[in-house]
Parts: sequence; C-alpha cells; structure tokens
Amino acid sequence: MSDEAQLEKLAKQIRACTKCELHRSRKNAVPGEGPAHAEIMFIGEGPGAREDEQGRPFVGASGKFLDQLLEQAGVTRADVWITNVVKCRPPGNRAPMPDEAATCKPFLEREIAIVQPAVIVVLGNTAMKNLLDTREGITRMRGRFLDYKGIKVMPTFHPAYLLRDPSKKRETWEDLKKVRDYLDSHP
Ligand code: SF4
Repeated sequence: MSDEAQLEKLAKQIRACTKCELHRSRKNAVPGEGPAHAEIMFIGEGPGAREDEQGRPFVGASGKFLDQLLEQAGVTRADVWITNVVKCRPPGNRAPMPDEAATCKPFLEREIAIVQPAVIVVLGNTAMKNLLDTREGITRMRGRFLDYKGIKVMPTFHPAYLLRDPSKKRETWEDLKKVRDYLDSHP
C-alpha cells in the first residue's frame, strides 16, 4: 500500500474513532493533513472550534497566523504535514487530559512513521511534553533542536499563544528560520 493510501486509511480510522471521551463532544475528528512525504511536521495541541466544524487542522485564527509565520520563514503550508496531539476538540478549548493524549498517541506515532519528516516542530507545551520526555517548559526549551527517534525536533510557541502575546513572534520566527536553514544544509 502506498504511503498516501496508508495516510488515507489512518484518516478514516481517526474519523471513526471512539476510544476516548473527546469523541462525544466533537462534530468532526480532525486527522493530520499535508503531503505524504512532507519535510516538516507541525504538531499542535488539539482542534479548535473552526477545525471541529470543518474537520481540518489549523484553519482558524491560529492557522492563519501560522501560515504568515511559515511564509516569513520561507516555508509554505504545502510543504508541511500539520497535525495535533489529539484529533478531537477538547470542550471549551481546554488542554487535552493526559489520558486523552495517551489514548490518541498511537495515531500521531503512525503519522510520524509514515510521513518520516526530516524535522518535527512541536507547537507549545502540550505538544512538546506529549512527544518528548521533558520537564522544562516551552520558554526554556524553544529554539534548540531535540531528538525523537532520530528525527530533529524544534520546540516553539503555539500560534494561539502568539496571538495573545505578539512580542514572542520574533523568537518563533527565529525558531522556524533555524528549521529552514537546517533543511537547506541537509538537502
Ligand atoms: Fe479517538 Fe483521538 Fe478522537 Fe480520542 S481524540 S476519540 S483517541 S481520535
């Protein structure tokens, strides 16, 4: 089966999933999206209201802001796989509970295994701590490459946080620029 077909099969499994309580309040599950062999994978926390409505990741205000950041760092959305820790919207946009994140994690692991990105960018604390065994928060960890099973991982701020505190935008742009520079030097 091709990688595209595997990702489509995975998306169908996600849309039908009822393994955690989040399925009860969702309108639509939100599988990851992008080209099957994207160089960069972005991992956010979970779908918001717009994403829940449309069943697509990062289509709301945070998504539009992320698009701007990507463009400024020389990355286009078409080059990236974009996904979340949990694929169903937590009620009221709360952070996913640890058990919800743990239940959903096999889907994320499968996405990573199929896409095999050169770099993963984790957006915010929830995504970083879900993927990596870290105690420090995103403010201390951002901006330097970490490792997940041999894949470079860059932690940076979540776009929703930047919308609340635009003063951190420059640091995020610098983090994304480091990702672009790494990819340019490892073609
Ligand atoms: Fe399934 Fe993940 Fe949705 Fe929970 S959040 S119902 S584990 S797809």
